Amino acid sequence: SIMPAVLSGIANGARNGILFKGGAYLETIGRLDVVAFDKTGTLTEGVPKVTDITAYGKYTETELLSIAASLETWSEHPIAKAIISLAKERNIELMPTTKLEAIPGLGVHGSVDGQECKIGKVDLIEGMTLSIKEKSTITDLEQQGKTVIFVKVEDEVIGLLAVQDTLRAQARESVDKLKQMGIKVVMLTGDSSSTAQIIGQEAGVDQVYAELLPEQKVEIIKTLGQNGKVAMVGDGVNDAPALAASSVGIAMGAAGTDIALETANVVLMADDLSKVSYAISLGRRSTRVIK
Ligand code: ADP
Ligand code: MG
Repeated sequence: SIMPAVLSGIANGARNGILFKGGAYLETIGRLDVVAFDKTGTLTEGVPKVTDITAYGKYTETELLSIAASLETWSEHPIAKAIISLAKERNIELMPTTKLEAIPGLGVHGSVDGQECKIGKVDLIEGMTLSIKEKSTITDLEQQGKTVIFVKVEDEVIGLLAVQDTLRAQARESVDKLKQMGIKVVMLTGDSSSTAQIIGQEAGVDQVYAELLPEQKVEIIKTLGQNGKVAMVGDGVNDAPALAASSVGIAMGAAGTDIALETANVVLMADDLSKVSYAISLGRRSTRVIK
């Protein structure tokens, strides 16, 4: 019987900060072909900082930041936290908001001080025309691995903000280790493809899937799952459906949202990415899978 090996594998995992929610997941994790990482909060620390602010035309930097932070009070996204904390740091007053709505994977829109406003990625800011200079600014920022966020008031783009997140300390080493173990490593993100490519390169992943809406992350996981066993590693509210669609959903225990922890089959208690390869080795040993 393989039971004693599975039990001791689960106990070993628990001693090493890996919580398996059942023996079946220890077996499946030993047979993985692909590991898909979410970018923000999983491969990166998920605590972005605002690095650049550009106000166009008639709005000042302070006004731009005030509108941006007022909109972001309606979002739980790490980008929202970065913008609000910068506004607080600069003692910038927020404005009255009504009918605001956060759109997962895109941004926030609604009425700020009586005007229709939007903040978010380029897709949300439809009908935007940019000068050559503006385009090159955006390209420069994205080449630095920064995420560019646009702010629109009524029909006018009034400026942009860039935020930058830090790769987790163990990201590169953990990805390399998985590749050495014969596992394909991919990254999934809603971020723009140029920013995502830079972060993906730093982390050393085999493939980057960018500009994904939460439901498209699920589709990618399903497609990858057609040719083998796939694990999804994530932390956010948006990641729960992809965690559920994978063969083994793995959540970051400390940074993870309740819904991610609940949906996952395996939880990494200390957000230590090196535990992903450890869990796989444990699975391989416990079930004596020969790859
Ligand atoms: P990720 O996959 O990196 O976690 P999301 O799917 O949550 O990213 O978001 C995708 C993109 O949508 C972000 O990179 C950002 O451009 C934009 N976005 C999402 N939420 C917000 C927000 N609250 N404020 C500004 N931009 C946002
Ligand atoms: Mg995330």
